[in-house]
Amino acid sequence: MSLTDLQAREAAHFIPVVNRHPVALVEGQGSLVRDTEGREYTDLMAGWGVTCIGHCHPTLAAAIADQASRLMQTTNIFYTLPQLDLIDKLAELAPGSLNRSFLTNCGTEAVEGALKVAHRANGRPKFISTLGAFHGRSLGALSVNGSAKHREPYKALMQETVQIPFGDAGAAAAAIDAQTCAIIVEPVQGEGGVHVPVSGYMTELRKLCDNTGALLIADEVQTGIGRTGKMFGVEHDGVVPDIMTLGKGLGGGFPVAAFLVTEEVAKTVQVGDHGTTFGGNPLACAAANAVLRVVEEEKLVERSASLGAKLAAHLRAYGEANREKVELVRGLGLLQGLVLRDAKQAATIPARALQAGVIVNVTGGNVVRFFPPLNIPEDQLFEAVDVVLSLV
Ligand code: PLP
Repeated sequence: MSLTDLQAREAAHFIPVVNRHPVALVEGQGSLVRDTEGREYTDLMAGWGVTCIGHCHPTLAAAIADQASRLMQTTNIFYTLPQLDLIDKLAELAPGSLNRSFLTNCGTEAVEGALKVAHRANGRPKFISTLGAFHGRSLGALSVNGSAKHREPYKALMQETVQIPFGDAGAAAAAIDAQTCAIIVEPVQGEGGVHVPVSGYMTELRKLCDNTGALLIADEVQTGIGRTGKMFGVEHDGVVPDIMTLGKGLGGGFPVAAFLVTEEVAKTVQVGDHGTTFGGNPLACAAANAVLRVVEEEKLVERSASLGAKLAAHLRAYGEANREKVELVRGLGLLQGLVLRDAKQAATIPARALQAGVIVNVTGGNVVRFFPPLNIPEDQLFEAVDVVLSLV
């Protein structure tokens, strides 16, 4: 079937809310994917930061196949071993006393659960979030989203929240009060344009929350599972949030996400406060368990830090040699952004890169975002990055 036929089918029956590239992908292995015409692409976007162990990692594929042939769905009213293994592992990995988790199907649902549980914990009405933040598109998550483009059309349906500039602890101090339920923040803003706060920002937010009785929610859907060179982004500041969300990389391509809470927060919830049909199903948990095993065995957190530093240096050298085009480079680990001066030019890059065999994304208007699989071979990474740089 030709691409034109596929496009006609999409045009007839898909709700037109996304712009697609004129490519249909059929298979992937490691950091490479192939389309219906047999063309190969290096994936520097990892399915939006998801395929952290590469496409179709044999350990993940085998774990899914094995679990799929045993048991896929039970509901949460039964114990299952894959779920128990996963919540044990998350408690072991997570900082401080974030010992309890609830499993969901995607990052948005994890954020929804986090907001609900926060409100349950202290009963307060006010949420503070940051401008440029991305937390998902359901009404609750959207209410703390920091992008007017996403929020405005649905404003009438949402609760008012307070939005402050990201990275500005003074603004947080001015906004927080005894009515504040929680501050929700990404340790590094991903969708907003790869914004890294100054060191100590999360520590300041932690202090403000402690002083006012508000909760700190770290949205680690994009930054978690090694993306920034630590298992979780909050570790850069050594901060323990009250609630932490995970998604994307947790399933390595299988939809699974989670929110974790401290023992203190967990004490405030009651049976019936939250629930889900699919969240925490054995198949999703088996996938997440396999991903966490691979991340550990292949030392991918350390690799994200070391390869990310090399990538940052490479981009910075390019930026310094091309100051007329590049404003700056920012990022942590294997989440790096090349900030271009010309947003119009930036917008042309993903389509041109695709023609040249590289999948890359532009976010925040003018930021070329590099977030490949954490185990991408070094030569493949730099070859593909150089293809992108040749198009800037
Ligand atoms: N939170 C953050 C920080 C994200 O980056 C995203 C997605 O990009 C979400 C939440 C929403 O996750 P999902 O698309 O899996 O619902």
